[in-house]
Amino acid sequence: MKKEKDCIFCRIVKGEIPPGKGKIKESDNFLAFLDLNPHAEGHTLIIPKKHFVTILDIPNTLAPELLKIIKDVASELMDKKLGDGFNVIQNNLEVAGQVVMHAHFHIIPRKDNDGLRFLVREN
Ligand code: AMP
Ligand code: ZN
Repeated sequence: MKKEKDCIFCRIVKGEIPPGKGKIKESDNFLAFLDLNPHAEGHTLIIPKKHFVTILDIPNTLAPELLKIIKDVASELMDKKLGDGFNVIQNNLEVAGQVVMHAHFHIIPRKDNDGLRFLVREN
């Protein structure tokens, strides 16, 4: 598993590389920015500023701040009419589809017939 110094999201937090397709907002402990390979316009990632690997590593004390930034980002996407609904998706470890080993939450705006399908059993 990649160490913090090699972590692309830690490098974004440190300002060493730009945040995907643009920063959306930040709070004391979290940063929200547009996904580099979005599934929909407005697809946003929310990450803790500290290097935690999965949701299990994020301290419970940060939960209210995390919920607030998730709700703020999702509300803004809805206000901008980028979606009529949204998914909050969070992958933990490789087998569950986690590619970047720094915990993150996907906020994905949804529209009717947008063709997106998540967690669909193939047989
Ligand atoms: P996951 O499969 O949950 O680990 O998702 C990782 C996400 O990070 C993918 O949607 C990528 O498009 C996104 N991503 C990877 N590198 C960057 C980057 N430098 N800036 C923004 N998003 C990124
Ligand atoms: Zn990291």
